[in-house]
Amino acid sequence: MPIHEQSLIRPENLRTRENLVLDGVDVSGHWSTFIEARTVTDYNERLQEEIASLPGGEHIHRCWQCGSCTNACTVNAVNPEFNPRFWIYLVRVGMEAELLRDKDIIWQCVSCNKCTYACPRDVFPEGVMKALGHWLELKGHTPKSPSMVFDEVFTEQVMERGRIEEGRLIEQFFKRTGQGLKQDWLIEMARRLLRHLPLAMLTRMGLSRLKAPRTSGWARSRAVLKEYVHEQHARQRSELGLAELVDTARRDAAGISHG
Ligand code: SF4
Ligand code: SF4
Repeated sequence: MPIHEQSLIRPENLRTRENLVLDGVDVSGHWSTFIEARTVTDYNERLQEEIASLPGGEHIHRCWQCGSCTNACTVNAVNPEFNPRFWIYLVRVGMEAELLRDKDIIWQCVSCNKCTYACPRDVFPEGVMKALGHWLELKGHTPKSPSMVFDEVFTEQVMERGRIEEGRLIEQFFKRTGQGLKQDWLIEMARRLLRHLPLAMLTRMGLSRLKAPRTSGWARSRAVLKEYVHEQHARQRSELGLAELVDTARRDAAGISHG
């Protein structure tokens, strides 16, 4: 019997014999390709719960493996190795080690949401991809991605003042990702802004650089938001079994210095 989705089988697990006769029947070549028998012992039985505890992963249990997400996927069209349906399957059966073999391509999701519109079960595969990327970073399987660093800087500014100021946002993001501010595209963008934006807007932007804008009466909202975010982080880390980070989140919530 031919092997369906042979691309999903690791080459080292395939065996093909050029010449093979079984019970008098010549099954050489294509018909003699077999999958190596193996026993998997390292299941993570909590993997589905771990992914479901992260934003975007909540509905992973609804998946019935129809494949519509992979069929519609923008990235899969150019790289067949990028397969959301397959990764959702691995999560649901707890095959963490197998999932980690694709850790360097999972983050390539471009968030186009074509999978989300194609999914008949409202799994929100795009959200699952985000949860997977987040899980890889939280568990230390991949380094913190630039987009995660950007989210952190953005969130810190909103938490602090209830507003963002683009100049500080870019400056902090570049600093934390080790990038210099003197980049050609950035200089060109600044030039064009100066050339095309109305003077009143440029003045407002300049003043915002001197004194960061704040939302009035933000302090009370900030306290409530901070408490909520810390609760969520502590819950997620506890679900992921990251005990020391739970302690860190508690210390954050209590306003205790890490030093
Ligand atoms: S959101 Fe990601 S997983 Fe979904 S179709 Fe787009 S690239 Fe593929
Ligand atoms: S489209 Fe939805 S139900 Fe179908 S395999 Fe993808 S996530 Fe699962």
